[in-house]
Amino acid sequence: MENVIIIGTGCAGWAAAIYNARADLKPLVLTGDQPGGQLTTTTEVENFPGFPEGVMGPDLMLKMQEQAQKFGTRVEYGVEATGITKEADGTFTIAAGSKSYQTKTVIIATGARPRHLGLPGEKELIGHGLTSCATCDGAFYRDVPVAVLGGGDSACEEASFLTKFASKVYLVHRRDELRASQIMADRALANPKIEPVWDTAVTEYRTDDKGEVRAIGVKNNKTGEESEIEVKCVFVAIGHIPNTKFLEGFIDLDEDGYAIQSPAGTAQTKVPGVFVCGDCSDHVYRQAITAAGDGCRASLDAERYLAEQE
Ligand code: NAP
Repeated sequence: MENVIIIGTGCAGWAAAIYNARADLKPLVLTGDQPGGQLTTTTEVENFPGFPEGVMGPDLMLKMQEQAQKFGTRVEYGVEATGITKEADGTFTIAAGSKSYQTKTVIIATGARPRHLGLPGEKELIGHGLTSCATCDGAFYRDVPVAVLGGGDSACEEASFLTKFASKVYLVHRRDELRASQIMADRALANPKIEPVWDTAVTEYRTDDKGEVRAIGVKNNKTGEESEIEVKCVFVAIGHIPNTKFLEGFIDLDEDGYAIQSPAGTAQTKVPGVFVCGDCSDHVYRQAITAAGDGCRASLDAERYLAEQE
Protein backbone atom coordinates (compact mmCIF):
# COMPACT_ATOMS: atom_id res chain seq x y z
CA MET A 1 0.00 0.00 0.00
CA GLU A 2 1.48 3.33 -1.09
CA ASN A 3 1.11 6.51 0.94
CA VAL A 4 0.70 8.65 -2.14
CA ILE A 5 0.62 8.01 -5.87
CA ILE A 6 1.14 10.99 -8.11
CA ILE A 7 -0.27 10.64 -11.62
CA GLY A 8 1.56 12.91 -14.05
CA THR A 9 5.01 14.39 -14.37
CA GLY A 10 4.64 17.99 -15.44
CA CYS A 11 5.57 20.82 -13.11
CA ALA A 12 2.65 20.02 -10.80
CA GLY A 13 3.49 16.33 -10.48
CA TRP A 14 7.20 16.81 -9.82
CA ALA A 15 6.63 19.64 -7.36
CA ALA A 16 4.19 17.42 -5.43
CA ALA A 17 6.74 14.59 -5.51
CA ILE A 18 9.54 16.80 -4.18
CA TYR A 19 7.43 17.92 -1.23
CA ASN A 20 6.01 14.49 -0.44
CA ALA A 21 9.42 12.85 -0.75
CA ARG A 22 10.96 15.37 1.62
CA ALA A 23 8.14 14.56 4.06
CA ASP A 24 9.34 10.94 3.85
CA LEU A 25 6.14 9.68 2.23
CA LYS A 26 8.14 7.85 -0.49
CA PRO A 27 5.74 8.86 -3.27
CA LEU A 28 5.29 6.73 -6.36
CA VAL A 29 5.00 8.69 -9.61
CA LEU A 30 3.29 7.27 -12.70
CA THR A 31 4.56 9.05 -15.79
CA GLY A 32 2.03 8.28 -18.52
CA ASP A 33 3.18 8.52 -22.13
CA GLN A 34 4.70 12.01 -22.01
CA PRO A 35 7.22 12.11 -19.16
CA GLY A 36 7.86 15.71 -18.21
CA GLY A 37 4.56 16.96 -19.64
CA GLN A 38 4.01 19.96 -21.88
CA LEU A 39 7.26 21.75 -21.04
CA THR A 40 9.16 19.00 -22.81
CA THR A 41 7.69 20.37 -26.04
CA THR A 42 9.01 23.88 -25.50
CA THR A 43 12.45 25.35 -25.95
CA GLU A 44 13.59 28.13 -23.67
CA VAL A 45 11.62 29.01 -20.54
CA GLU A 46 12.45 32.55 -19.48
CA ASN A 47 9.84 33.16 -16.81
CA PHE A 48 10.49 30.38 -14.32
CA PRO A 49 11.89 32.15 -11.25
CA GLY A 50 15.45 31.24 -10.36
CA PHE A 51 16.76 30.99 -13.92
CA PRO A 52 17.82 34.51 -14.94
CA GLU A 53 19.54 33.11 -18.05
CA GLY A 54 16.47 31.04 -18.98
CA VAL A 55 16.29 27.27 -18.98
CA MET A 56 15.31 24.76 -21.66
CA GLY A 57 11.89 23.22 -20.92
CA PRO A 58 13.11 19.58 -21.09
CA ASP A 59 16.11 20.43 -18.86
CA LEU A 60 13.86 22.05 -16.28
CA MET A 61 11.72 18.94 -16.13
CA LEU A 62 14.74 16.66 -15.79
CA LYS A 63 16.03 18.81 -12.94
CA MET A 64 12.67 18.60 -11.18
CA GLN A 65 12.68 14.82 -11.59
CA GLU A 66 16.24 14.58 -10.30
CA GLN A 67 15.28 16.67 -7.27
CA ALA A 68 12.23 14.47 -6.58
CA GLN A 69 14.22 11.24 -6.90
CA LYS A 70 17.04 12.57 -4.73
CA PHE A 71 14.62 12.53 -1.79
CA GLY A 72 13.23 9.05 -2.47
CA THR A 73 10.52 9.45 -5.13
CA ARG A 74 10.02 6.27 -7.12
CA VAL A 75 9.01 6.44 -10.79
CA GLU A 76 7.18 4.03 -13.08
CA TYR A 77 7.39 4.95 -16.74
CA GLY A 78 4.74 4.66 -19.41
CA VAL A 79 1.94 3.84 -16.98
CA GLU A 80 -1.34 5.33 -18.19
CA ALA A 81 -3.98 5.46 -15.43
CA THR A 82 -7.33 4.37 -16.79
CA GLY A 83 -9.50 4.63 -13.69
CA ILE A 84 -9.57 5.07 -9.91
CA THR A 85 -11.88 3.36 -7.44
CA LYS A 86 -12.35 4.01 -3.76
CA GLU A 87 -12.27 0.88 -1.62
CA ALA A 88 -14.46 0.20 1.43
CA ASP A 89 -11.53 0.93 3.77
CA GLY A 90 -11.05 4.40 2.24
CA THR A 91 -7.96 3.51 0.20
CA PHE A 92 -7.77 3.71 -3.59
CA THR A 93 -7.05 1.37 -6.45
CA ILE A 94 -5.61 2.92 -9.59
CA ALA A 95 -6.15 0.85 -12.71
CA ALA A 96 -3.54 1.19 -15.45
CA GLY A 97 -3.99 -1.31 -18.27
CA SER A 98 -3.22 -4.75 -16.86
CA LYS A 99 -1.63 -3.25 -13.73
CA SER A 100 -3.23 -1.89 -10.59
CA TYR A 101 -1.87 0.10 -7.67
CA GLN A 102 -3.09 0.46 -4.07
CA THR A 103 -2.64 3.75 -2.29
CA LYS A 104 -3.91 5.79 0.65
CA THR A 105 -3.97 9.05 -1.33
CA VAL A 106 -3.87 10.10 -4.98
CA ILE A 107 -2.53 13.32 -6.48
CA ILE A 108 -3.78 13.89 -10.00
CA ALA A 109 -1.46 16.07 -12.06
CA THR A 110 -2.26 14.85 -15.55
CA GLY A 111 -2.09 18.23 -17.28
CA ALA A 112 -3.78 19.21 -20.51
CA ARG A 113 -3.11 18.77 -24.19
CA PRO A 114 -3.65 21.17 -27.08
CA ARG A 115 -7.03 20.96 -28.80
CA HIS A 116 -7.00 20.15 -32.51
CA LEU A 117 -9.63 20.63 -35.18
CA GLY A 118 -10.06 16.93 -35.85
CA LEU A 119 -9.52 17.24 -39.61
CA PRO A 120 -8.24 14.26 -41.60
CA GLY A 121 -4.47 13.82 -41.53
CA GLU A 122 -4.06 16.30 -38.67
CA LYS A 123 -2.14 13.98 -36.35
CA GLU A 124 0.27 12.91 -39.11
CA LEU A 125 1.03 16.56 -39.94
CA ILE A 126 2.29 17.40 -36.47
CA GLY A 127 5.93 18.29 -37.02
CA HIS A 128 5.35 18.69 -40.77
CA GLY A 129 3.85 22.14 -40.78
CA LEU A 130 1.32 21.72 -38.01
CA THR A 131 2.04 22.57 -34.41
CA SER A 132 0.49 24.00 -31.26
CA CYS A 133 3.63 25.66 -30.01
CA ALA A 134 4.89 28.86 -31.58
CA THR A 135 7.64 29.07 -28.99
CA CYS A 136 8.93 25.66 -30.02
CA ASP A 137 8.57 25.88 -33.77
CA GLY A 138 8.24 29.54 -34.77
CA ALA A 139 11.91 29.97 -35.58
CA PHE A 140 11.74 27.20 -38.20
CA TYR A 141 9.42 29.32 -40.34
CA ARG A 142 11.45 32.39 -41.26
CA ASP A 143 10.35 34.67 -44.09
CA VAL A 144 7.41 32.49 -45.05
CA PRO A 145 3.67 32.94 -44.47
CA VAL A 146 2.08 31.05 -41.59
CA ALA A 147 -1.39 30.81 -40.08
CA VAL A 148 -2.54 30.88 -36.47
CA LEU A 149 -5.96 29.37 -35.76
CA GLY A 150 -8.08 30.73 -32.92
CA GLY A 151 -9.24 33.99 -31.44
CA GLY A 152 -8.16 33.76 -27.81
CA ASP A 153 -5.17 35.08 -25.88
CA SER A 154 -3.05 32.14 -27.02
CA ALA A 155 -3.78 32.80 -30.69
CA CYS A 156 -3.02 36.53 -30.33
CA GLU A 157 0.12 35.90 -28.31
CA GLU A 158 1.38 33.29 -30.76
CA ALA A 159 0.54 35.45 -33.77
CA SER A 160 2.42 38.43 -32.30
CA PHE A 161 5.39 36.23 -31.41
CA LEU A 162 5.49 34.70 -34.89
CA THR A 163 5.85 38.09 -36.56
CA LYS A 164 9.49 37.96 -35.41
CA PHE A 165 10.08 35.22 -37.97
CA ALA A 166 7.30 34.84 -40.51
CA SER A 167 6.81 37.10 -43.53
CA LYS A 168 3.08 37.20 -42.78
CA VAL A 169 0.78 35.75 -40.12
CA TYR A 170 -2.84 34.99 -40.98
CA LEU A 171 -4.96 34.97 -37.83
CA VAL A 172 -7.82 32.70 -38.81
CA HIS A 173 -10.83 32.93 -36.51
CA ARG A 174 -14.28 31.38 -36.82
CA ARG A 175 -16.06 34.57 -35.70
CA ASP A 176 -15.66 38.29 -36.46
CA GLU A 177 -14.57 39.20 -32.95
CA LEU A 178 -11.63 38.03 -30.90
CA ARG A 179 -12.15 36.39 -27.54
CA ALA A 180 -8.72 37.55 -26.39
CA SER A 181 -8.23 40.24 -23.74
CA GLN A 182 -8.34 43.77 -25.15
CA ILE A 183 -4.64 44.42 -24.77
CA MET A 184 -3.60 41.20 -26.53
CA ALA A 185 -6.19 41.69 -29.28
CA ASP A 186 -5.16 45.32 -29.84
CA ARG A 187 -1.49 44.37 -30.00
CA ALA A 188 -2.12 41.62 -32.53
CA LEU A 189 -4.45 43.65 -34.73
CA ALA A 190 -2.09 46.65 -34.74
CA ASN A 191 0.76 44.53 -36.05
CA PRO A 192 1.15 45.14 -39.80
CA LYS A 193 2.41 41.58 -40.33
CA ILE A 194 -0.80 40.05 -38.92
CA GLU A 195 -3.79 39.73 -41.22
CA PRO A 196 -7.00 38.66 -39.52
CA VAL A 197 -9.19 36.30 -41.51
CA TRP A 198 -12.63 36.62 -39.93
CA ASP A 199 -15.59 34.25 -39.90
CA THR A 200 -13.47 31.52 -41.32
CA ALA A 201 -13.20 27.80 -40.70
CA VAL A 202 -10.34 25.64 -41.87
CA THR A 203 -11.74 22.77 -43.94
CA GLU A 204 -8.56 21.03 -45.04
CA TYR A 205 -4.80 20.92 -44.64
CA ARG A 206 -3.12 20.77 -48.04
CA THR A 207 0.35 19.33 -48.44
CA ASP A 208 3.16 19.40 -50.98
CA ASP A 209 4.79 16.32 -52.51
CA LYS A 210 7.01 15.93 -49.42
CA GLY A 211 3.98 15.78 -47.15
CA GLU A 212 4.63 19.22 -45.64
CA VAL A 213 1.83 21.77 -45.23
CA ARG A 214 1.63 24.13 -48.22
CA ALA A 215 -1.85 25.66 -47.71
CA ILE A 216 -5.11 25.52 -45.84
CA GLY A 217 -8.50 25.20 -47.45
CA VAL A 218 -10.90 27.63 -45.77
CA LYS A 219 -14.60 28.44 -45.83
CA ASN A 220 -16.26 31.70 -44.88
CA ASN A 221 -18.86 30.86 -42.26
CA LYS A 222 -21.16 33.71 -43.34
CA THR A 223 -20.97 33.54 -47.14
CA GLY A 224 -20.04 29.87 -47.57
CA GLU A 225 -17.30 30.96 -49.98
CA GLU A 226 -14.37 28.54 -50.14
CA SER A 227 -10.78 29.52 -50.85
CA GLU A 228 -7.17 28.63 -50.11
CA ILE A 229 -4.50 30.39 -48.05
CA GLU A 230 -0.91 29.47 -48.82
CA VAL A 231 1.08 28.92 -45.64
CA LYS A 232 4.10 26.85 -44.65
CA CYS A 233 2.92 26.21 -41.13
CA VAL A 234 -0.32 26.19 -39.16
CA PHE A 235 -0.19 27.03 -35.46
CA VAL A 236 -3.31 25.65 -33.83
CA ALA A 237 -4.25 27.76 -30.80
CA ILE A 238 -7.86 26.81 -30.14
CA GLY A 239 -7.53 25.94 -26.48
CA HIS A 240 -6.59 22.88 -24.48
CA ILE A 241 -8.25 19.68 -23.31
CA PRO A 242 -7.56 18.57 -19.74
CA ASN A 243 -6.40 14.96 -19.40
CA THR A 244 -9.22 13.96 -17.11
CA LYS A 245 -11.39 11.57 -19.13
CA PHE A 246 -10.47 8.66 -16.84
CA LEU A 247 -11.85 10.63 -13.87
CA GLU A 248 -15.40 11.07 -15.21
CA GLY A 249 -17.89 10.03 -12.55
CA PHE A 250 -15.19 9.76 -9.89
CA ILE A 251 -14.46 13.40 -9.04
CA ASP A 252 -16.26 16.57 -10.14
CA LEU A 253 -15.24 18.00 -13.51
CA ASP A 254 -16.48 21.29 -14.97
CA GLU A 255 -18.26 21.50 -18.33
CA ASP A 256 -14.91 21.62 -20.15
CA GLY A 257 -13.55 18.63 -18.26
CA TYR A 258 -11.29 20.51 -15.83
CA ALA A 259 -11.06 18.87 -12.41
CA ILE A 260 -12.73 21.00 -9.75
CA GLN A 261 -10.75 21.88 -6.64
CA SER A 262 -13.11 22.15 -3.71
CA PRO A 263 -13.04 24.03 -1.41
CA ALA A 264 -11.54 26.59 -3.79
CA GLY A 265 -8.03 27.54 -2.82
CA THR A 266 -7.16 23.96 -1.90
CA ALA A 267 -6.14 20.99 -4.05
CA GLN A 268 -8.92 18.87 -2.55
CA THR A 269 -11.74 17.21 -4.48
CA LYS A 270 -15.13 15.94 -3.39
CA VAL A 271 -13.42 12.58 -2.70
CA PRO A 272 -11.38 12.82 0.50
CA GLY A 273 -7.87 11.59 -0.15
CA VAL A 274 -7.89 12.57 -3.84
CA PHE A 275 -6.18 15.81 -4.82
CA VAL A 276 -5.85 17.62 -8.15
CA CYS A 277 -3.30 20.16 -9.28
CA GLY A 278 -1.82 21.85 -12.31
CA ASP A 279 -3.26 22.30 -15.78
CA CYS A 280 -5.81 19.48 -15.44
CA SER A 281 -7.60 21.77 -12.98
CA ASP A 282 -6.56 25.21 -14.25
CA HIS A 283 -7.82 26.72 -17.49
CA VAL A 284 -6.90 30.27 -16.55
CA TYR A 285 -3.23 30.57 -15.61
CA ARG A 286 -1.65 27.43 -17.12
CA GLN A 287 1.89 28.47 -16.28
CA ALA A 288 4.82 26.30 -15.21
CA ILE A 289 5.14 28.23 -11.97
CA THR A 290 1.42 28.13 -11.13
CA ALA A 291 1.34 24.39 -11.82
CA ALA A 292 4.38 23.87 -9.59
CA GLY A 293 2.78 25.93 -6.82
CA ASP A 294 -0.41 23.96 -7.17
CA GLY A 295 1.55 20.70 -6.94
CA CYS A 296 2.97 21.95 -3.66
CA ARG A 297 -0.54 22.63 -2.36
CA ALA A 298 -1.68 19.13 -3.35
CA SER A 299 1.28 17.53 -1.58
CA LEU A 300 0.63 19.48 1.62
CA ASP A 301 -3.08 18.63 1.47
CA ALA A 302 -2.21 14.93 1.01
CA GLU A 303 0.28 15.04 3.85
CA ARG A 304 -2.31 16.58 6.22
CA TYR A 305 -4.94 14.08 5.14
CA LEU A 306 -2.59 11.19 5.90
CA ALA A 307 -1.71 12.68 9.28
CA GLU A 308 -5.42 13.00 10.12
CA GLN A 309 -6.05 9.36 9.21
CA GLU A 310 -3.42 8.10 11.64
P1 NAP B 1 -9.50 30.14 -25.31
O1 NAP B 1 -9.56 31.42 -24.61
O2 NAP B 1 -10.45 29.05 -24.93
O3 NAP B 1 -9.70 30.46 -26.86
C1 NAP B 1 -9.82 29.44 -27.79
C2 NAP B 1 -10.12 30.06 -29.14
O4 NAP B 1 -10.17 29.02 -30.10
C3 NAP B 1 -11.43 30.82 -29.18
O5 NAP B 1 -11.30 32.00 -29.94
C4 NAP B 1 -12.36 29.82 -29.87
O6 NAP B 1 -13.32 30.45 -30.68
C5 NAP B 1 -11.42 29.06 -30.76
N1 NAP B 1 -11.86 27.70 -30.97
C6 NAP B 1 -12.15 26.75 -30.03
N2 NAP B 1 -12.52 25.61 -30.61
C7 NAP B 1 -12.47 25.83 -31.95
C8 NAP B 1 -12.74 25.03 -33.08
N3 NAP B 1 -13.13 23.75 -32.97
N4 NAP B 1 -12.59 25.58 -34.31
C9 NAP B 1 -12.19 26.85 -34.44
N5 NAP B 1 -11.92 27.67 -33.42
C10 NAP B 1 -12.06 27.15 -32.18
O7 NAP B 1 -8.06 29.44 -25.25
P2 NAP B 1 -6.62 30.14 -25.09
O8 NAP B 1 -6.47 31.25 -26.03
O9 NAP B 1 -5.66 29.00 -25.17
O10 NAP B 1 -6.61 30.71 -23.62
C11 NAP B 1 -6.89 29.85 -22.51
C12 NAP B 1 -6.72 30.64 -21.21
O11 NAP B 1 -5.36 30.99 -21.01
C13 NAP B 1 -7.51 31.95 -21.23
O12 NAP B 1 -8.01 32.16 -19.94
C14 NAP B 1 -6.46 32.98 -21.56
O13 NAP B 1 -6.76 34.25 -21.05
C15 NAP B 1 -5.21 32.39 -20.89
N6 NAP B 1 -4.00 32.85 -21.59
C16 NAP B 1 -3.39 33.97 -21.12
C17 NAP B 1 -2.26 34.44 -21.77
C18 NAP B 1 -1.59 35.65 -21.23
O14 NAP B 1 -2.22 36.36 -20.48
N7 NAP B 1 -0.35 35.90 -21.59
C19 NAP B 1 -1.75 33.80 -22.90
C20 NAP B 1 -2.43 32.67 -23.36
C21 NAP B 1 -3.56 32.20 -22.70
P3 NAP B 1 -14.55 31.29 -30.05
O15 NAP B 1 -13.95 32.58 -29.60
O16 NAP B 1 -15.49 31.43 -31.17
O17 NAP B 1 -15.07 30.45 -28.92
